[in-house]
Amino acid sequence: MNYVFDIDGTLTPARLPIEQEFKKFFLKWIKGKNVYLITGSDYAKSVEQVGKDVLEAVTACFNTAGNICHKNGKVIYKNDWNAPSELVAMLEVFLKTSKYPIRAGRHLEHRIGMLNFSIIGRNCTREQRKDYNIFDANVHEREKFCKIIMETFPDIEATVGGQISIDIYALGMNKAQIIKHIDGPIYFYGDKTKKGENDYAIASKLTSPPNKVFTVKNWQETQNILKKFD
Ligand SMILES: [Mg+2]
Repeated sequence: MNYVFDIDGTLTPARLPIEQEFKKFFLKWIKGKNVYLITGSDYAKSVEQVGKDVLEAVTACFNTAGNICHKNGKVIYKNDWNAPSELVAMLEVFLKTSKYPIRAGRHLEHRIGMLNFSIIGRNCTREQRKDYNIFDANVHEREKFCKIIMETFPDIEATVGGQISIDIYALGMNKAQIIKHIDGPIYFYGDKTKKGENDYAIASKLTSPPNKVFTVKNWQETQNILKKFD
């Protein structure tokens, strides 16, 4: 069996480092098992969240939606992708025309194989982040942006990611791409497995036996499930 975990909200509290108690438990749990991590964040962010020891204890860690893979801290493969300038121009228009009033800076982040876009900007404070998330929940701005992007660029995919941003990549280069790098059945654990959320692409491909999807509310729920597989 292969065990695949989303990181943010599944192994850690949202955007925060892993709890030390759970980390100890998890390091023990993964011994002798095939365990993979998959996240939209880059490797540096994963080091911050779960630590090098966890990243090097697992079979492999897939970052930026599976566009780069590390084993024992070494890069196994990476997919480079340059967002077309027409897309970047469209995002600039979204930035100018969104009715949300605050622009905190760092609106576009180029990551390996993907682009992360945020109206409020990744430099925002925690409070601003919450505020934008409430605004977006009311007007569904991010969903609308994703729709426009995909209608305009048929070879590009966009999904709502985290609280404030959208993730954009070449068609098919989402979290689901890692399935082809893993032999045998997969148990997947994620906190955002519904349609339009950032684990949906992979979760929706693993719903039939012998694969299985575990949708968790938080890392505590992940831990409770894992205790049954000891
Ligand atoms: Mg998550």
